[in-house]
Amino acid sequence: MDCLFCKIIKGDIPSYTIYEDEYVKCFLDINPVSKGHTLVIPKKHFLDVNDIEEEYVLKVLSAAKKVIKLLNEKLEPTGIKLVQNNGSAQEVKHYHLHIIPCYGEKKESFNIEELYKKLTN
Ligand code: AMP
Repeated sequence: MDCLFCKIIKGDIPSYTIYEDEYVKCFLDINPVSKGHTLVIPKKHFLDVNDIEEEYVLKVLSAAKKVIKLLNEKLEPTGIKLVQNNGSAQEVKHYHLHIIPCYGEKKESFNIEELYKKLTN
């Protein structure tokens, strides 16, 4: 299947993976809305919220909680937003949950390599 995120799961396309297990992969968004913007994807291909199996909903959310804990500890955002796009709102047609840290009014610039090191050390 010609799916970008399936290629990331297989390792054919590189990613800044900050957490993964048997069921999910969590990696930094390549075009981040904010510092630490992370995507959580199931390792089995599902299109969207209508398509994803219940078991994987739980796996995605429990991985998201781990990532949120990491982001809170390392980056100290003031809030965290969860977004999951479907239909015409969805660009990549493999289910994914966005974890978007918020920092109030302050816009923080960052280098993705340094951020990746900070989150994985
Ligand atoms: P959506 O509109 O919910 O489908 O969002 C897709 C997201 O995937 C966007 O935020 C993109 O920046 C992100 N994205 C696309 N390609 C990659 C990639 N190779 N690595 C990481 N994130 C990506």
